Amino acid sequence: ILFVNNVTKRFGGLVAVNNVSFEVREHEVMGLIGPNGSGKSTTMNMISGALKATSGSITLKGHDLTRAKTFENARFGVSRTFQLVRILPELSVLENVIAGAVFGHKRRWGAEAEAFAAGLLERVGLAERITAPVGSLTYIDQKRLELARALAGEPSVLLLDEWLAGLNPSELKVGIDLVASLRQEGRTIILVEHVMDAIRSLCDRCLVINSGTKIAEGTPDAVLSDPDVIRAYLGEG
Ligand code: ATP
Ligand code: MG
Repeated sequence: ILFVNNVTKRFGGLVAVNNVSFEVREHEVMGLIGPNGSGKSTTMNMISGALKATSGSITLKGHDLTRAKTFENARFGVSRTFQLVRILPELSVLENVIAGAVFGHKRRWGAEAEAFAAGLLERVGLAERITAPVGSLTYIDQKRLELARALAGEPSVLLLDEWLAGLNPSELKVGIDLVASLRQEGRTIILVEHVMDAIRSLCDRCLVINSGTKIAEGTPDAVLSDPDVIRAYLGEG
């Protein structure tokens, strides 16, 4: 349903993403992995519309995301979480999630958006914090909130950029279980992740990029035992 075709992103003289192509099929969890600075977040940012590609095209269910105006990507069915958590600080927990529903794919509004948002907060384990000011949330609760807000957009494709990063071992288990439950219900997800256990247990397929270039694609077991992939990770030092 998502097609990334020969996409390149340059920042001045730096080629952050170099002629990358891939497809994400419906109901699939696709891992996007690679060493630090390899271009994972830049790729996610071009899909979500936060960055414009220098060249190439990205389409979702026939919508051209590369030509979309800012914020249109959410309407077309892309929702995301950010590598560095981005919560709207002046809104309550519930209002943050309502914002995801209002600006999302299905444009829910008013009481319907509110009920929907409350249900999602319960799902991610934040039922007790609904009226809390977002400044009082712990790190994992901020992560939960971002996930609920992304889900509120009712996306055709959900982008999770290191959503599991920075969690302690018990939180990590909760986080992996949550993503596993999303996979179970057939959601389409791109998972940028460094946690290998999560990649192995959650991804149907993985794409590996290194220095902006695609170097491998296949099942998690296949790519993680690929000599080129191992070399790319070791090269990190
Ligand atoms: P990490 O695992 O550390 O999150 P990443 O794979 O997400 O890495 P990107 O954030 O996509 O990597 O960065 C790819 C390259 O592009 C890096 O060299 C980075 O310094 C550069 N880069 C990213 N964003 C910008 C920007 N806005 N301006 C200039 N250079 C950038
Ligand atoms: Mg990144």
